[in-house]
Amino acid sequence: MSSFTNERIAATAASPNMENYEQMRGQFQWEEVESEFTWHETGKINMAYEAIDRHAESSRRDKIALYYSDGEREEEYTYGQMKSSSNRFGNVLRQLGIGRGDRVFIFMPRSPELYFALLGIIKVGAIAGPLFEAFMETAVKDRLEDSQAVAIVTTPSQLPRIPVQELPHLKHVILVGHDFRLEEGQVDFHKAMESASEELELEWMDREDGLILHYTSGSTGKPKGVLHVHDAMVQHYYTGKIVLDLKGDDVYWCTADPGWVTGTSYGVFAPWLNGATNVIRGGRFKPADWYATLQKYGITVWYSAPTAFRMLMGAGDELVSGFDLSRLRHVLSVGEPLNPEVVRWGLNVFKQRIHDTWWMTETGGQLICNYPGMAIKPGSMGKPIPGVDAAILDDEGRILEPYCMGNLAIKTAWPSMMRRIWNNPAKYEEYFRFQGWYVSGDSAFRDEDGYFWFQGRVDDVINTSGERVGPFEVESKLVEHPAVAEAGVIGKPDPMRGEVIKAFIALRDGYTASEELKEQIVRFVKTGLSAHAAPREIEFKDKLPKTRSGKIMRRVLKAWELNLPVGDMSTIED
Ligand code: ATP
Ligand code: MG
Repeated sequence: MSSFTNERIAATAASPNMENYEQMRGQFQWEEVESEFTWHETGKINMAYEAIDRHAESSRRDKIALYYSDGEREEEYTYGQMKSSSNRFGNVLRQLGIGRGDRVFIFMPRSPELYFALLGIIKVGAIAGPLFEAFMETAVKDRLEDSQAVAIVTTPSQLPRIPVQELPHLKHVILVGHDFRLEEGQVDFHKAMESASEELELEWMDREDGLILHYTSGSTGKPKGVLHVHDAMVQHYYTGKIVLDLKGDDVYWCTADPGWVTGTSYGVFAPWLNGATNVIRGGRFKPADWYATLQKYGITVWYSAPTAFRMLMGAGDELVSGFDLSRLRHVLSVGEPLNPEVVRWGLNVFKQRIHDTWWMTETGGQLICNYPGMAIKPGSMGKPIPGVDAAILDDEGRILEPYCMGNLAIKTAWPSMMRRIWNNPAKYEEYFRFQGWYVSGDSAFRDEDGYFWFQGRVDDVINTSGERVGPFEVESKLVEHPAVAEAGVIGKPDPMRGEVIKAFIALRDGYTASEELKEQIVRFVKTGLSAHAAPREIEFKDKLPKTRSGKIMRRVLKAWELNLPVGDMSTIED
């Protein structure tokens, strides 16, 4: 594989997919947004500079940028300290000869060092590749090989999962830890940081230069390497303001791991571009610890995911009543459809509506959202944010009327749109198969008020007796039943009906599987939703297969059902 060059990025940027970009910039009132940024004056850009250094060089120098805790460590860092530490790491990389366009991966549990490293990589113009810490060897190898990474920042305990011998391009392994023996090609993170200078000559980039390479969650198949560029900051900053509603003194917590796009776009870039205080929690999920985190730091804005909200809901309302969450003023969700039941629960326990937001790795930033100032319809993912245009298209690319289910598409382009799929230009072009549109792969409909309603992945939509049924609607009804903890719904081929609906269900504690319960649940959907959407078959499972980012993997349910190979499983939970 030839190495990364800026010319190749430029070639992508000039493709027809970008033709509406300048027009969109007008709609977003970019001038106002961009005037905040230093690069507006210089024409040169660096995400890490605008997120950290710009504040460190202002009156925010001593403001807390990062509160970190994981049960063992509890630390805080000011914007000034974040600047120095990321500068140091930038120098460590420079000394290794790493710079512009090189891919440098991060494979470690959350820690302050992870964030110093991420920012340092960006400061020297390299492309950061965050990997989820729980990946096993094959998943790690696939991604490092595909991207031809030159270096990786990791810990001694993660090291056995990196097959260094089989990755000749991977020249440097930077180890974050204590009491280990260094081998050839390895660097001791802490030692190298100590001797590195705090002053760094920043690498000034062009707007279209590569910033970060995220591999998708793998819900639907082999993960794709999605490249984002420095220009994405305009969207991160803007959505941080109008969707996260970040203001000067907010304490913000995004629960996503930086191995997923939410954990960088909204766990790193958006909060720091907006000068907020950012809380990062490491360690495992435990309902009581999460509530304690909200209370302890006086979190005001909280961004999490339906799977987490459902688990908190499952932990019972008594638990939450023991914590003071009165500072909380804005709660958001992403990653999966947010069941109306969860929105109602949130209103009850947090006295807050949970704001659903829709976007994906490929879009780099939020696009369709419930944002402050608009009415929320529980179950809808909201409306396109100002400056974004969305539509439902049929399979020929024609715009459909309200209430018709079809392909959810976004008018091209926006600043945080992916600029390519690494090593896979054909896949990239597929997203833009209808002139002027980005086709998401999700299926949805729009109502007469312009709200969008998620129905499922296009591949997941069920066609039963000529009716198109979105699995999410059925799953949402199912989890309203008191016995149901989680549900995954698929279409099962049927000679008569085309497909019939089959539901896989995990029961709440205290309920036992029985034929009677099955019948009761079917009746519940029939009367509460519709007869044609009621499952014809129900199978109880202890657990549903989920990605590590918490999404139900319907393709695995389908493969089980049809006795087919399950395909790429690198992102499945334990
Ligand atoms: P892969 O593309 O590898 O199959 P993935 O699509 O799960 O993985 P992500 O980019 O992390 O990887 O997830 C984006 C997808 O998550 C969206 O396309 C959509 O299906 C789902 N999603 C995200 N937010 C929402 C939401 N608010 N409502 C419904 N679905 C959502
Ligand atoms: Mg996807």
